[in-house]
Amino acid sequence: MARLFHYKVINNAFGDPCVFIQLLREKRALLFDIGDIRKIPFNELLKVSDIFVTHTHIDHFIGFDQVIRAILRRSEPLRVYGPENIIECVNGKLRGYTWNLVSEYPLKIEVYAITGREIVGAKFLASNGFKIEEVRSLPFKNGLILEEPLFKVRAVVLSHGIPVVAYSLEEDYHININKVELQKAGLNVGPWLGELKKQLKLHYKYDPVKNLKPKNRKKSIEIETPKGRINIEELFRILKITKGEKIAYVMDISPQKDNVKRVISFVKDADVLFCEAYFLSKDLDRAIERNHLTAQITGEIAKKAGVKELKILHISPKYIENPAEIYREVELSREQTRE
Ligand SMILES: [Zn+2]
Ligand SMILES: [Zn+2]
Repeated sequence: MARLFHYKVINNAFGDPCVFIQLLREKRALLFDIGDIRKIPFNELLKVSDIFVTHTHIDHFIGFDQVIRAILRRSEPLRVYGPENIIECVNGKLRGYTWNLVSEYPLKIEVYAITGREIVGAKFLASNGFKIEEVRSLPFKNGLILEEPLFKVRAVVLSHGIPVVAYSLEEDYHININKVELQKAGLNVGPWLGELKKQLKLHYKYDPVKNLKPKNRKKSIEIETPKGRINIEELFRILKITKGEKIAYVMDISPQKDNVKRVISFVKDADVLFCEAYFLSKDLDRAIERNHLTAQITGEIAKKAGVKELKILHISPKYIENPAEIYREVELSREQTRE
């Protein structure tokens, strides 16, 4: 099965946490956190359309300048999401340079601060020397911050002593092509299947009984196939619909019960969870003081949420001599926690 989300972890667990996600067959990528991103090649940075920042501690945000430099002449806009102070932080970064030579550039940066109740927006245009401009705030409903035909992104505001945002990237459903049925219908594989998938995502949502259900009032949609134009619903028999993938990203949260409870429900049934495991349990005092998770709590979250794959990204440098202890504690906790 071809996956929509192709992720790359940029640094090792002692480097700054950052995940790059390439979308299948799209010249487009998403980035979670932008600390040290020097390992992302220039041409890959150019594809980044949306950046999801958990918080603006330097190990999660220092790479912002590098992104701007890479995309400065780009015509596609950049969207940056983050906690309540993200607009101020982006503005601060942009004010750190002189912009008298960019007025011809089409670049537009949209920034969205997730405050818990609403999403406050701002934009910065190269043509205007990146001066801050207000945009209308959006409601923050059901945790949704971005909804597109291909995927959705949800967010939750948690505590790290300061507000921190965790994200989940979800594909509503996944469309596979049943090659046997395709042949039976006398059709061949080709780029038209990409168009079929796009139209399906635009006009149909997942339904547990019928598999696919029209999103709005039914209008007839036709697809150009090698055999001419065919009504989209007649093509349903060549499809195999499966559950879409869910990828969650949770960094730098304090180990308080309330935080942990909210994370568990937020990352429920994730296929992949990227999470910190910053301290060992024996250093719980330190974890509480620094507002980070322990390996034991990270394991517990993954188990209670039914996460399939857990990727540890952020470990305190104090364990650099013996990181195996962290992984062991996570695994032990996953084995011993009851769902
Ligand atoms: Zn932090
Ligand atoms: Zn951090």
